[in-house]
Amino acid sequence: MTDPIKTDVLIIGAGPCGLFAVFELGLLDMKAHVVDILDKIGGQCAELYPEKPIYDIPGLPFTTGQNLTESLLTQIKPFGATFHLQEMVERIERIGDPLFRVTTDLGKVFEVKVVVIGAGGGSFQPKRPPIPGIEAYEERSVFYAVRKMEAFRGQRLLIVGGGDSALDWTLNLAPIASRLTLLHRRDQFRAAPDSVNKMMALAGEGKIDFVMGQVAALEGENGRLLRALVKRGDGSNVHIVCDALLPFFGLTMKLGPVANWGITMKDGLIPVDTAAFETSVPGIFAIGDINWYPGKLKLILSGFHEAALMAQKAYRYVFPDRRLVFQYTTSSTSLQKKLGVA
Ligand SMILES: Cc1cc2nc3c(=O)[nH]c(=O)nc-3n(C[C@H](O)[C@H](O)[C@H](O)COP(=O)(O)OP(=O)(O)OC[C@H]3O[C@@H](n4cnc5c(N)ncnc54)[C@H](O)[C@@H]3O)c2cc1C
Repeated sequence: MTDPIKTDVLIIGAGPCGLFAVFELGLLDMKAHVVDILDKIGGQCAELYPEKPIYDIPGLPFTTGQNLTESLLTQIKPFGATFHLQEMVERIERIGDPLFRVTTDLGKVFEVKVVVIGAGGGSFQPKRPPIPGIEAYEERSVFYAVRKMEAFRGQRLLIVGGGDSALDWTLNLAPIASRLTLLHRRDQFRAAPDSVNKMMALAGEGKIDFVMGQVAALEGENGRLLRALVKRGDGSNVHIVCDALLPFFGLTMKLGPVANWGITMKDGLIPVDTAAFETSVPGIFAIGDINWYPGKLKLILSGFHEAALMAQKAYRYVFPDRRLVFQYTTSSTSLQKKLGVA
């Protein structure tokens, strides 16, 4: 087993509520690590609606999903939280009173006094394309995320999709792959126009291939892909020889492993008390969209309030011998020092 990372608090989910939890915990001297399955910070705001306007964040008449994420990152900067992206928390075990061992799908282990679940609607998981038998190739030749670009050096890659992920990875992997084909069912894309123009330029220069069509079948052996049978828009078939297939068909939200953590659940949500937003397990808190209590509203501002109260109770677990004194950031020099402004 790898040496555990020991810290005060582990936050599961880098959505807006997980990010604000870093701030509230930091004001009270608690150090946090944050794990998120996505390759970016911001949860639903960054993944589902980065450019959509938000009008109901207190004090901000107008912002967007991406701008809110960036503002939160600026706000929590003084507290130096460590982010572990593209990792899913799989297991939480209680090993002390309270002390938890938390393990991710990459085998990373944390030992923490407090766990904060800010997992939103659950983990974002890639949509699997409807290709018969694709499961047999997953994690050997079929990948829904690029964790290490170098793993694809010198390979023949088939990237499928027409959104930002498909286009971004086409542009990033083109110099690394020995040959790269982008496959999309039509010549209109949902991706940023700039990425589409760059991809078209590469195709025009013969550096990549762009094919219109859909994968109908995969051929290979023992999970090793040899080629894909592609049905083109005009009804004809073509074989594309490839070592790896990377389908980018968007993400769907699934509850994921949350349900296996030994916490009382109710209709896919985690019931909490409204004094501290603690779950049925002392030392494990749930804030944001994942929790439930009478009157709960799935709004970002609710999660911010929940984070503040959570931190007050978390303090008692992390510093059982200290007395917590309530202070305002406007008037407390001690808080201002932590924020780096005094
Ligand atoms: C289109 C749209 C518009 C919206 N507009 C508004 C609005 O105007 N105002 C408003 O207040 N709210 C709005 N919302 C709702 C708002 O986005 C959510 O309330 C908010 O994102 C909840 O934040 P969160 O931090 O709880 O969870 P999320 O933003 O869902 O983030 C949770 C994170 O946890 C990660 N995660 C889950 N499980 C695991 C695991 N096991 N391991 C690792 N990581 C995990 C996920 O990958 C995700 O990144 C909108 C939502 C949508 C979809």
